[in-house]
Parts: sequence; structure tokens; C-alpha cells
Amino acid sequence: MGLETKYRNMVLKIFQLIRSLFIVSVSEQYKGEFSLATNKINISRAKAISATFIVLESILIIISFSNSKNEFPDIYYRGMYALILAAMIVYLLVFSKLEGNISANKTIIEVSGISFACILLYWCMGISLLDQLSYGQIIVYISALLAIAVVPLFSPLVSFFLYCSSQILFIALLPYFQQSSSVLYGHYVNSSTLAVLSWIISRIRYVSFVEDFEYKRIIQEKNDELAKVNKELEEANRILKELSQIDGTTGIFNRSVFDQVMLTEWNRCRRHSIPLSLIIIDIDFFKTFNDNYGHLAGDDCLRQVAKLLKSCAKRSSDTVARYGGDEFTIILPHMEKEDAVNFAEQLRKRVLKEITIPHEYPSILTHLTISLGVATIIPSSESSIKEFINAADQALYEAKKERNKVVVM
Ligand code: GH3
Ligand code: MG
Repeated sequence: MGLETKYRNMVLKIFQLIRSLFIVSVSEQYKGEFSLATNKINISRAKAISATFIVLESILIIISFSNSKNEFPDIYYRGMYALILAAMIVYLLVFSKLEGNISANKTIIEVSGISFACILLYWCMGISLLDQLSYGQIIVYISALLAIAVVPLFSPLVSFFLYCSSQILFIALLPYFQQSSSVLYGHYVNSSTLAVLSWIISRIRYVSFVEDFEYKRIIQEKNDELAKVNKELEEANRILKELSQIDGTTGIFNRSVFDQVMLTEWNRCRRHSIPLSLIIIDIDFFKTFNDNYGHLAGDDCLRQVAKLLKSCAKRSSDTVARYGGDEFTIILPHMEKEDAVNFAEQLRKRVLKEITIPHEYPSILTHLTISLGVATIIPSSESSIKEFINAADQALYEAKKERNKVVVM
């Protein structure tokens, strides 16, 4: 590497270091939100400060009028109090108006925020210069330097110009007010140290605010993404659960739902001592149907029977399910035996009338028919679900002796 390139790189590095001290940038995608957030903070703090100054300066004006004579330098102090009081009233009004629409007034808020800090700093400097004429302190100016470091959120570049300009002016004006060269020297050292320290504090606050802001936004984005994924997962789970409950061929509930619902309804009817009915339905000669018309026609037939059964079981508590093969079940809570038999008879008739699928094998048939076994029970500790299902099965077995029939146990 040549010497020239080495120097050029070094200068570049120094330049970048200086630049990074003064320019702390926010990621492009958060810029808008960030300026809104800083403006919100600055405007509310500026309002609080201007209101405090209005109260304090009013009190000071009253005290200065009641206590002092109209002599030098009291008259200057009074003038300064009046000046800042008027400025603070104007700023309070301006900020209250701008606060109504922070995003639309972005630039005006930024400019007025800087000018507000400037005026306060310069005013405090003025008071400290006046103080030199009596007791020689610079506490008011130093307090203002620190206050600007800890109250508003200014970028390092803005606060640098603020502190730089006020400090240059202070150094330039101080000899006109302070005659003692040793005091003057002390004030120069103290105020300059405090100005640098204040700028460092202001920069640290600003940098950590930027980092916090970006960190919070990243976490927010991740949380939003997570919430979206969770929602999708919940939906997928719901669909999966639904699919796991549905019989693929007929679209009605499958055997596992039958088992769950039977258990729930059994316990419910047992608790309230109410009747529970069960109908088991089986298509007659379905094997020969398949053999003669094919399995696809058989599937279609199962679908039509399932659809009809579902349309008949209208109460919300009725549960129609495919039990397996060409067998269906209907759980009918709170239904007496007589009503269950009537309902089963209605199903038998409707299948005969409404399902017009021809079924001529064996030759005794013309249409598709079903046989139904009915059982009704008031569940108790002496009975069991298994016995109850067996009873309905037994009734179906009896019905199958003739077919196209309803038998009750
Ligand atoms: P029965 O009157 O005594 O009930 O005589 P069946 O021929 O209907 O005898 P069974 O009920 O035992 O026959 C059940 C038939 O149902 C056997 C099988 O071919 C048919 N099957 C079972 N599941 C399906 C299915 O998913 N699709 C079709 N197409 N057929 C099925
Ligand atoms: Mg059958």
C-alpha cells in the first residue's frame, strides 16, 4: 500500500469517526415514526417548561416589584423576566396549536423546538451575565446547559450547534460584565467543561433513544409476524380438527365423533335423568348394490343416504354419524322411545320415497331401502353405553330379518 493511500485511508477513517459523532441515523423504514415520536416528546416537555416559566417569572416579577427600587441592575432583571414571560406565553400557545396535528406540522415543530431551546439558553446566559454585576455566579447559564442535555431530544448535530453558538457568545460577552480576570478564567473553564459534558449527555440520551426505538420496533414487527403465524396455525389446527372429525366419503361426522358425543350425551342425560335414544341404520343389500352397480355408485348412494339423514335430524342436539361401512347412527338426546320409533319410521319412508336410486338386486327389490334399530334409555349407574349400543344393534338385527323395517328394543 502506497503512503498516499495510507494517509487517504486514515483521513477517511477520522472523517467517518467525526461524522458518526455528530450524525446518528435512524433506519430508513422507521424515520417517519421516529420523528413523530421525538416531536411528541419534545412538544409535551416544551409545553411543561413554558408553563413552569410563566408561573415562575410571574412570581419573580411580583417579588421584584414589591422588593426593589427602580435602580440598576433590578430594572434589567425585570426586563428579562418580562421578556421570557412574553416569549413563554407565545411558545405555549404555538405548541398547544401544533400539538393538534404533530405529523402534519413536523418541520415547524422541529424548528420551533430548537428556537425554544435557543431562547431559553440565551436568556439564561443573559441572566448569568447580569449576575456578574452583582454576585458573579454563572449558575443559571450552567443549569440551562444541563437542562437542555436532559430534557429535550435533539440530534448530536443540533445540540452541538446550540452549545457551540451559546458558548462562543458567552465567552465573547463575559468580559464586558465580569472585571475580575481570575473569576473570568474560572467561568470560562467551568462553562466550557459543562457545555462539553452537556453535549455528551445529550448525545448519549439521543443514541440510546434511537437504539431503544429501533429495538422496540423490531420486537413489535417480530410479535406481529408471530401473531400472524399463530393465527394461521390456529386456522390450520381448526381445519385439521374438523377434517379429523369428518368422514371422507359422506361428509358427515365419523365414528370417533359418535363415540365422543355418545359419552357426553350419556352423562348429560344421566345427570338430568332424561331419555336418550339411538337409531342404527343399515342399507339393505348394499353388498349386492356395489357388486352390480360398482363402488363409485355405492359411494354416491352412501352420500345421498347421509344427506337425507342429516336433513331429517334437525334439532341442534341430534348427531348423525357414519358408524362404518353402510351403517349410520343418530344420537337423539331428550327423546322418548315412541318419538324415536316415529322418527325412525319417517326416515325409512323418506329413504324409500326420496332416494330414487334403483336397486334391483336381489330381484325382490326395486329401490334402495334401509333397516333401522332403535333403543331408548334413561341412563343410570346400572346401565352402560355398550349395552345401550348393543340393544340398538340387536333391534337392527331383528329388522334385518325382514329389511326395510324399524324395530325397537
Ligand atoms: P344387509 O341388508 O344384510 O345389510 O346386506 P348388505 O349387503 O348390506 O351387507 P352388509 O351391510 O354387511 O354390507 C356392507 C357392504 O358395504 C360391504 C361393502 O362392500 C360395502 N361398503 C362398505 N364401505 C363402503 C364404502 O365406503 N363404499 C362403498 N361403495 N361400499 C362400501
Ligand atoms: Mg347393509
